[in-house]
This record gives sequence, structure tokens and C-alpha cells, in this order.
Amino acid sequence: MDACKHIALIAHDNRKLDLLDWVRFNRETLAQHALYATGTTGALVQREVGLPVTRFLSGPLGGDQQVGAGIAEGRLDVVFFFWDPLEPQAHDVDVKALLRVAVVHNCPIACNRATADFLLSSPLMGEEYGQALPPPVLHA
Ligand code: PGA
Repeated sequence: MDACKHIALIAHDNRKLDLLDWVRFNRETLAQHALYATGTTGALVQREVGLPVTRFLSGPLGGDQQVGAGIAEGRLDVVFFFWDPLEPQAHDVDVKALLRVAVVHNCPIACNRATADFLLSSPLMGEEYGQALPPPVLHA
């Protein structure tokens, strides 16, 4: 990972205000990185905070899977994913797949605001980071 991270932002509907508030508070830090987001989250960040965002599809329409593919292909470095633990989602399976692929690929992923604060304030966010993932064990 370079010092400039490729960061994905995702928030479920009940968590969007929380994510927006967090993005606004951390605007200067986030502006130093390349931002990506699922469709609606990205539109809100652009409109409300004025940061440039590369937008994927909306989460329920495949955006979560696009973020997962970005992680698997090494195009995304860090994810801030404010998912809703209190409401079922139409795309629950996509959410689970995204969380899984992030762990498989050793991708830093923050799912609540406190973790997001700790992750974004890590000195590693502004440095190169080269901890390679050990090759997966294949079972024949
Ligand atoms: P959205 O998708 O940003 O398009 O609302 C988020 C999600 O539900 O995964």
C-alpha cells in the first residue's frame, strides 16, 4: 500500500448520517487519500462534504460486490463500512461476502465509528505499508 490509500466508504441507510458526520470531521485527512464509495453514500459525501469520490453502484445493486472485487484485486486498501446491525438488508449476502473477502485479503475494515477513528488516526494511514498476506493454504 502506498502512503496515499485507496479508501472505500459505505454506509447503510440508518448509518449514513453517522458516516457523513465522521467524514466531515475528518475531511482534511480523507482529502489526502483517493476516495471510493457505493452509489448513494458517495453521492452524499460529494454533495454534503465536497470531497471527490469515485462511485460504484448502489450497495443493493452490486456496489458492495464491486468493493469486494476491488479488495480482491488489490485496487482498494482500506474500507470504512458503517453497516446497520439492527435492520435486515435486502443484500445481506453481499454484506457478508464483503466482510469475508476483506478478512481473507487482510484489508483493514472499520465497521463502527470508534474503530474508524482508531484506524484513520493510525500513523500507517500516511505511510507505505507492506505486510504481505501469506499465501492461502489450498486443500487438494
Ligand atoms: P448505498 O449502498 O451507498 O448505495 O446506499 C450502501 C449499502 O447499502 O451497501
